[in-house]
Amino acid sequence: MNPSEWFTEIVPVAQSAFSLKIKQKLHEEYSEFQHLEIYETEEFGNLMVIDGCTMVSTRDNFFYHEMMSHPALYTHPNPKRVWIIGGGDCGTLKEVLKHASVEHAVQIDIDERVTRLAEIYFPELCESNNDPRADLKFIDGIKWVKDAAPNSVDIIIVDSTDPVGPAEGLFSEAFYRDCFACLSENGMVVQQSESALYHLKLIGEMRNAMSNAGFGHLQTLFFPQCLYPSGWWSATIASKSDLSTFREQDSANKAFDTVFYNSDIHKASLAQPEFVKKVFSLK
Ligand code: SAM
Repeated sequence: MNPSEWFTEIVPVAQSAFSLKIKQKLHEEYSEFQHLEIYETEEFGNLMVIDGCTMVSTRDNFFYHEMMSHPALYTHPNPKRVWIIGGGDCGTLKEVLKHASVEHAVQIDIDERVTRLAEIYFPELCESNNDPRADLKFIDGIKWVKDAAPNSVDIIIVDSTDPVGPAEGLFSEAFYRDCFACLSENGMVVQQSESALYHLKLIGEMRNAMSNAGFGHLQTLFFPQCLYPSGWWSATIASKSDLSTFREQDSANKAFDTVFYNSDIHKASLAQPEFVKKVFSLK
């Protein structure tokens, strides 16, 4: 095996690695915020890498983008205003805009270069960017939320890089407090929460920070994502109101296509493994 033909992400916490065979490097730059690379792979289509970590591939991004958006949007009673913090590849925005109830979706990514590269190398993820309800901002999401007025938004989706560099503050109690303050009555935050196999302590700390910030209802959901460390990923929803049910009939009768998400997948994603229940002190 010639290592130069492979992109490898090493995961020090688990002393493991994930590799994709590449055809060629399509682009590389250091933006103001991070190191951006785009590869053409043999079997996964195009691949975006930020600071050495896999972000998005053409082949498997649907798991993540669908599960970061539809469970929350089918749990909130009437989501009209949605913010996506990060999410510069625009895949989550595209899923959010599939919901007819959404009147305004703002994507707030600190790095405009991520979106400009996605437009070139992942055009299918950017196809809703010209939807009149879509609003793309390029500023720090932490500041955006801090400066927001009360009752400005129904759902905040935190589609960020890992909790290092510019994304570190997006995993803090102070940030969740600012989210709580600007969310409406049934408002909720959805945060990508890494792998329960590799990062369970981090998920536990995130859940504590969310409760301390005032959110009375938490739900961590699980889904496959082969590109990310361990191949088994999660998102955590923190809500001001009950999370024990979702709009199952609306989900079952959804008027748009998805690749992975449906109402049965939604239900299945809520099931909590035994080792997770122990750590989260769930019954
Ligand atoms: N799906 C990916 C994952 O879990 O690895 C995340 C993809 S998305 C491309 C992550 C985005 O978060 C990047 O475009 C990065 O610029 C953005 N980001 C990081 N910190 C941010 C901040 N403080 N405010 C807004 N966007 C931020």
